[in-house]
Amino acid sequence: METKSRHYEFEGAVLDVPLYYDKLADMYIEEYRDFKENPVWTSDGYPLTHAAEDDCPCGDWDDPQEFHDCGSCRYFSLIASDTLIGVCRREMPVQHRRKK
Ligand code: SF4
Repeated sequence: METKSRHYEFEGAVLDVPLYYDKLADMYIEEYRDFKENPVWTSDGYPLTHAAEDDCPCGDWDDPQEFHDCGSCRYFSLIASDTLIGVCRREMPVQHRRKK
C-alpha cells in the first residue's frame, strides 16, 4: 500500500508527517507524532507541538475558560495554514531548552 506523507521545513525544523485516508471524510488526514516523546525543534530551539496538545503550566490564555490547549495559547503559532502543527515560542527555563 502506498504511504503518503507531507514534508515540512520550518525555521530549521524538518519533518515528514504521514497521511492516512479517512473514508468518512473522504480525504487524507495528517497523522501526528507525539511531540513529547519524539520532539522536533526549530534551529532557534523552540519546540514544535500540536494545537490539540493539552496545556502546560507555562501557557497563557486570554480566555479564562477551564480547559486549554496549545492551539489557544498565546505562545503558539501554526507552521502552515493546512496543518495543526505549530511552534511554541514560550521562553523555557534553561534546563528545558534544547542544547544547540
Ligand atoms: S504553546 Fe507552549 S506554553 Fe503554550 S500551552 Fe503549549 S507548550 Fe505550553
